[in-house]
Amino acid sequence: MTVIEGVVPEAGADPKMPPGVVVEGPLVDAKFLDSYIAFGFMIGGSIAALVWAFWQGIGWVEVSVFVGMFLLTTVGIGFMHRYFVHRSFRCGPVMRTILAAIATLAVQGSILKWVSNHRRHHLHSDKPGDVHSPYYDGVGNRYASFLKGMSHAQGGWVWDQATTDGAYYARDILADPIAMFFTRTRWYWYALSAVIIPGAIGYAFGGVHSMIGCVLFSGLFRSYIMTMATSLVNSVCHSDGRYGYRRFETNDGTTNEFVTTILTFGEGLHNNHHRFPRDAYLSHAWYEIDINGLIILGLGKLGLVHDIFGVGARRRSAAPDAQQGGAVASQNAFDGVAEDLRSAGR
Ligand SMILES: [Zn+2]
Ligand SMILES: [Zn+2]
Repeated sequence: MTVIEGVVPEAGADPKMPPGVVVEGPLVDAKFLDSYIAFGFMIGGSIAALVWAFWQGIGWVEVSVFVGMFLLTTVGIGFMHRYFVHRSFRCGPVMRTILAAIATLAVQGSILKWVSNHRRHHLHSDKPGDVHSPYYDGVGNRYASFLKGMSHAQGGWVWDQATTDGAYYARDILADPIAMFFTRTRWYWYALSAVIIPGAIGYAFGGVHSMIGCVLFSGLFRSYIMTMATSLVNSVCHSDGRYGYRRFETNDGTTNEFVTTILTFGEGLHNNHHRFPRDAYLSHAWYEIDINGLIILGLGKLGLVHDIFGVGARRRSAAPDAQQGGAVASQNAFDGVAEDLRSAGR
């Protein structure tokens, strides 16, 4: 965990919260502005999409673009998670550019923000300091009500008076010109995903009527629904076995849950993931269907990505906790990041 050692908390840090969490100042203001704009468009667009669907109807063009963009961005968040956060494989700059583009098209925040938040989540999983736990709110107070906690994990956390310091959690991303290009230009990619691509396809196949339907239903509404599907990982897959099952006794409330796993292409195998955070392929049984993992393995077979981390690499690295199982979590969540920083001499 070299990446987060030896850093003094910045101004705006809350003494009750772990370092790397900022509770006031320009970083928090910027986070709120991003959230207001993105969710304003997505929620406003979703309401308009439902009105349009009942009033004007939607056809095969709108449904096809919805499904196509949902699948593409679900794979994109898989790359965001397994490549940019956990470095579960490696690839060259062209491939990294493609992965960064698809990840940013998901309209779930910039690579810098997503990576920082998710690393903080692993480090403090279901403890004070977690970004989106069903058990603790944004400033580390325990929830008395399971329902309140679940709604915080599912989406309320976005409105917390707290944000994650990228300089603390994601120095590798800050030093990566490709990831930072997509971080700076995120709004163009959100507009492409939620408006321009669906609108252009709609116009090409059905004129102005399909164009409006596609922007509302297949662009804005789809972005919101897809974000909510991803968020099931934060709520349902941290429900401490209320939904799904726990294959490993980790020191958090993670579970593997079937419906979330299908909707997120494998990210719902979240107990497996917290146990072995750097694994590229999350399935430990035939009924654990990890489409994103299979895509990464397929890209490896094609030679487009390499050094795919998995059970073999765990054995070779011979970290004792990686071989023995038991109640250990997040031990190797940042090993790949530390390796990258070392090899780059940072
Ligand atoms: Zn988690
Ligand atoms: Zn993770």
